[in-house]
Amino acid sequence: MQTRGSRKTSKDRENAALARSLPAVGRLLGSRAFRRLAAEHGPALVADLLRDEIGALRRGALAGTLSGREVREAAREGALAARVGEAARRLLAPSPRAVINATGVVAHTNLGRSVLSAAAAARVAEAATGYLDLEYDLARGARGSRHAHLEPLLERLFPGQASLAVHNNAGAILLALRALARGREAVVSRGELVEIGGSFRVPDILAVSGARLREVGTTNRTRVSDYEAAIGPRTGLILKVHQSNFRIVGFAGEASVPELGAVARKAGVPLVVDWGSGDLVDLAPLGIADEIPVRRLLDQGADLVTFSGDKLLGGPQAGVVVGRADLVERLRRDPMARVCRLDRLLICALRETLASYVRGRHFEEVPTLRMLALGADEIGRRAERLRRRIARAAPPGVAARLRIEDGVSRTGGGSSPLGERPTRLLVVESAAGDAGTMERALRLGDPPVLARIREGRLLLDLRTVLKGQDETLAERLAAALASDQTPKRKLMTSPSRTT
Ligand SMILES: *Cc1c(COP(=O)(O)O)cnc(C)c1O
Repeated sequence: MQTRGSRKTSKDRENAALARSLPAVGRLLGSRAFRRLAAEHGPALVADLLRDEIGALRRGALAGTLSGREVREAAREGALAARVGEAARRLLAPSPRAVINATGVVAHTNLGRSVLSAAAAARVAEAATGYLDLEYDLARGARGSRHAHLEPLLERLFPGQASLAVHNNAGAILLALRALARGREAVVSRGELVEIGGSFRVPDILAVSGARLREVGTTNRTRVSDYEAAIGPRTGLILKVHQSNFRIVGFAGEASVPELGAVARKAGVPLVVDWGSGDLVDLAPLGIADEIPVRRLLDQGADLVTFSGDKLLGGPQAGVVVGRADLVERLRRDPMARVCRLDRLLICALRETLASYVRGRHFEEVPTLRMLALGADEIGRRAERLRRRIARAAPPGVAARLRIEDGVSRTGGGSSPLGERPTRLLVVESAAGDAGTMERALRLGDPPVLARIREGRLLLDLRTVLKGQDETLAERLAAALASDQTPKRKLMTSPSRTT
């Protein structure tokens, strides 16, 4: 015991001496390298990061987890400056980063959903850097309303209907439930108590709104008579929710909007429809048949329809409520309307996006619709140009690993699960039998490229690759292919990614 104890003590003394040998923060900060870092990233941040580095080395030295050689190596001025510089750059780098979306999922929720039109983006930049008549009526010289910027355009798109825009569709539903059914019952089909995108659950939104959930029907079937039986003096509204990201097939059935509209009218309660994806135009010509345009839902008897601004509409994050003027007025007067009011940059972006629809130029100007409208042949020709370009620049043998095949793109954004468009994919076979490594190389490069993997092959869909990104994509792909030359011994398995 005695000897072991004293050995430990002498080791402790050695460790303490090693910790004491670390350079002083103050002296390091006066050096040329650290003065340069301070000028670039700010002296306070550089001093903090350096203290973190020295602190970690001191703890490692005292605990004996770092050897004397390791500590001396890591504590060299140049090594410290490199790590502090890298930490500062990582911390301050732009984030979220721009990525190339080669997944073919158009309104990809994890990638920011819709890309704004050029006009909308220009308006955002202008609005961000100056004052606006946001809530000021220039003609009267008095306070105005921020809704006044959107109402005239929404009135054109939805004649005879009132409207209100808030910061997202979840907010729009919450507001509608609160304003129209707080302390009362919201009648909802069990088949529509859905979760959308992990964080939006219809029952949870209902709970925080103060409305009581009155479930009707079963998971797979809800009849009109189920609603009729549930309606009574405590009913605040009927809520119909777009099933968005799943479909029950087989023995299934739901009450339609026209049917529910009739039930609601007879009972004298409002029918509120949460139509997440919010397509303003008929997408049936594109083969996206089960998305009903918002205007038709209103014609069919919905009293209010709520939808997102950044899904099929193709604008910024927003939630729009359209419908009966007396109901919209009740939403407007609810204190929650102030809580979820729309930001000025988003008002500008939404207005410009709506303007494209009003002009009838949405399929040309709104990127989400432009991408959805692209035909498979056009995408295939672009993929072929990309394939030839890579094959020309790459080492022999690479061309054989690239081919063009039929596939499907998806609308995404919690819109119809059946919302698929035929496309032509650029398919990359891995020489090493390991598409996961190529996928990772693309994802971790600069700019990051996101692709899909299926059955051990890399799939790129140019539907969602923006104009002007082909050259960068070709370079990134060529680099990923070059790193995939030699067959690897160890086959890494990677889960197939289908987001
Ligand atoms: C996407 C979606 C929502 C949530 O909309 P956000 O704009 O993301 O708040 C709600 N309901 C349905 C049916 C949806 O598809």
